[in-house]
Amino acid sequence: MSRPLVLVANDDGYRARGLGLLAQALRRRADVVVCAPEVEQSAASHALSLHRPLRLFAHGEGIFSVDGTPADCVYVALHAETRVLPRRPDVVVSGVNHGVNLGDDVFYSGTVAAAREGALKGIPALAVSAASDADLEAAAELAAELTLALPALGTGPALVNVNVPRGKGWPLRATRLGRRIYRDEVEFRRDPRGREYLWIGGPGAEHAPVEGSDTEAFDAGIVGITPLVLDLWHREARVEAESLAAAVRQGQ
Ligand code: MN
Repeated sequence: MSRPLVLVANDDGYRARGLGLLAQALRRRADVVVCAPEVEQSAASHALSLHRPLRLFAHGEGIFSVDGTPADCVYVALHAETRVLPRRPDVVVSGVNHGVNLGDDVFYSGTVAAAREGALKGIPALAVSAASDADLEAAAELAAELTLALPALGTGPALVNVNVPRGKGWPLRATRLGRRIYRDEVEFRRDPRGREYLWIGGPGAEHAPVEGSDTEAFDAGIVGITPLVLDLWHREARVEAESLAAAVRQGQ
């Protein structure tokens, strides 16, 4: 069997250590193409740069950067004919991110968005994130194993979000999304010219207790593997949607 082709992206930038270690671990068993942001894009979510020019840079064999978002990178790699990828990849992996993406983080995460962009195009995809006190080399080895195992399953989940806790030699568990309780803040300051500016984003998050969740696994030192759906439709809320439509019914 020919070697699988893996597209590697991230949101920390193409020079990030987590991405480098993952690409290195994958190269032993797969053909690898890296296409990642020129500079860090953490919390960029799924933004696409539709209204400005983008530049694609080559940094040697199979390593590219784009001066855009994580989703831009995967979009460019998949649609730039053979400029980036020699063929359609068998799997897309995003990471290993420096920092976790648990529970509600999946809405904000550029790491998850890069994987999701691949999944939306019908390619099996993973996002892998590691705690700052995780052994990043061991996390990259594990990420590489999961990346190669996913397409081999055949009927595996389309998109999975993986979080690696502290240390190494972790047990693995299938999880659901937990709940992150952010200490959200807006802090106003003044610049040296006397003009006001502000910072958003507070000091981290706490975990609400959710049984079987990625946050629970993480806190117990276990790698959580969370399958994600691409269909955000809320089946149970369709009655409320009907009520909303009825509340402002017009033109009849
Ligand atoms: Mn990041």
